[in-house]
Amino acid sequence: MAVDPLIEMRDVNKHYGKLHVLKDINLTVGRGEVVVVIGPSGSGKSTLCRAINRLEPVESGTILLDGHPLPDEGRELAKLRAEVGMVFQSFNLFAHKTVLANVSLAPVKVRKRSREEADRRSRELLERVGLLAHADKYPAQLSGGQQQRVAIARALAMEPKALLFDEPTSALDPEMINEVLEVMQQLARDGMTMVVVTHEMGFARSAANRVVFMADGRIVEDRAPEEFFTAPRSERAKDFLSKIL
Ligand code: ADP
Ligand code: MG
Repeated sequence: MAVDPLIEMRDVNKHYGKLHVLKDINLTVGRGEVVVVIGPSGSGKSTLCRAINRLEPVESGTILLDGHPLPDEGRELAKLRAEVGMVFQSFNLFAHKTVLANVSLAPVKVRKRSREEADRRSRELLERVGLLAHADKYPAQLSGGQQQRVAIARALAMEPKALLFDEPTSALDPEMINEVLEVMQQLARDGMTMVVVTHEMGFARSAANRVVFMADGRIVEDRAPEEFFTAPRSERAKDFLSKIL
């Protein structure tokens, strides 16, 4: 299916104490693919996301980024990790830095870009997420939806090969959800490789190449959105969809 794999998880397992939270996870995300991960609360979606860039160590299995196995630690891990951006439910912007400084910080510190180059590129990214006019404001002066769009620009500033989103709109007021989803839709159209944990089924239907349904730490279904939504195979997925749709 995925001819050019960018993210590969092979037989990945993880426990928290006695809780088996990732069970024999096999997942391949192709370059340019958008994979939406859905499932009940506690099914392991966040842990899966965090495992992809080793924010969570795993006990067994292999995770490859662009063909390179993720090591457990060290400089090589830091390098590979920087190639996968993450956007969380809570935006985690630096409150005492301007919007522009939030976006250009990591490129200067980690990628060793010059201040001028980083600022120029950050302005381009802020324009892309519709926030150039707010470059000199502080996060608290922005709405939640705007802050999340800054967080997306900040992740893009590292020029990642892939972006992971963990419920990026769950903390937002309803009227702000669409402005964030629209930015994500545009990224998808531009060919960004994305793994998106979300309850936004409209986004899944319109932007995802595949839907991965998780339950109890397992990937239960991994299929095209139209197939999944119209004819889920598992009882778990049928039950889940009947509750949210
Ligand atoms: P989801 O994102 O699908 O809601 P999570 O990946 O956050 O699921 O959590 C999966 C399971 O692991 C849940 O039962 C949760 O309570 C548990 N869990 C998550 N993080 C930790 C942790 N740091 N320590 C112990 N248990 C955890
Ligand atoms: Mg979660």
